Amino acid sequence: MIPELPPASHYMQLPREVLIGRNVAPLVGETLARLGFHGPALLVTGDIVLHVAGDTVLESVKERGFKTEAVTVRNSSTEEVAKVEKRIREMNPDIIVGVGGGKDIDIAKLSSMKTGKSFLSVPTAASHDGIASSLVSMKGLDRPYSYAAHSPIAIVADTSIIAKSPYRLIAAGCGDVVAKYTAVRDWKLAHRIKNEYYGDYAADLALMSSRVVMKNASSIRAVTDSGVRTLVEALISCGVAMSIAGTSRPCSGAEHLFSHSLAMVAPNPALHGEQCGVGTIMCAYLHGGNWELIKDFLQKIGAPTTAKELGIEPQYILKALTTAHSVRPERYTILGESGLTSDAALKVATITGVIEQ
Ligand code: ZN
Repeated sequence: MIPELPPASHYMQLPREVLIGRNVAPLVGETLARLGFHGPALLVTGDIVLHVAGDTVLESVKERGFKTEAVTVRNSSTEEVAKVEKRIREMNPDIIVGVGGGKDIDIAKLSSMKTGKSFLSVPTAASHDGIASSLVSMKGLDRPYSYAAHSPIAIVADTSIIAKSPYRLIAAGCGDVVAKYTAVRDWKLAHRIKNEYYGDYAADLALMSSRVVMKNASSIRAVTDSGVRTLVEALISCGVAMSIAGTSRPCSGAEHLFSHSLAMVAPNPALHGEQCGVGTIMCAYLHGGNWELIKDFLQKIGAPTTAKELGIEPQYILKALTTAHSVRPERYTILGESGLTSDAALKVATITGVIEQ
């Protein structure tokens, strides 16, 4: 829980340990023991993930003498969170271990916070920065964007497992990282226009993640050890940047509003990071930034850069562009308070080649 603070003070909650590299999943048990946990551990994971990584983690926790159980979740819905919460209250574990992609980690994060437990994150994919952040995004909540929960006490990111995940997830993760290029510009803009708090350190950290990932496009595309590691480190740094800022501002601007809006209006949305990547191309154009650079990078990575590649019809792209400003009205961005006009939306989408003329 975020404590009540006096004015002009700042609360940062950061992970205490991060283990990253090949074959670190068997070290989860040891990590829990080192962090001083003794009691039962509840694993929150998905059906498929259980066999990919969950079993290894379960074994390692059992070996350390922890009483362990696993609960599998199907989707990121409030019902699944309630199911896990119920299990936590029955079992009263000392620690929750979230093993999996976005939904498993998000459910572990939210249910552990609601029950006052710590949680450890074991990401098996690198598709977005939620693997290390204190934020959750989930279907069925009262808002389409993420909100504050708590940070993992530790992150154990096994790059040999992440490297074996579908490449589409890795490419999506690159889209979520490159999004910081426009997110930070929007944050700066809100500082100037609305006198919103702006933190140089958090902003630079987020921008650095996007720069480093862009510089390492070819090794990420080749899914080399160092490429995967660079992406995972960037995603973790983005989570840290949000913790330091005390807001998702350094990592989420108009490109994220576009993605959230698209998720609501399109019948078959693409992945969060894929949509954010395409949003970044268009928002970079709106900012007068180097949108070609973003587009080149995403093409090099093999991430979508057009409506067609997202599998989304142009009409939904335009609808999302004109309504994105209303998704989260208190978040001031380059879209302004009244949003893009239809003509402006069509112009940005065609100039950047997101939709064909
Ligand atoms: Zn994101």
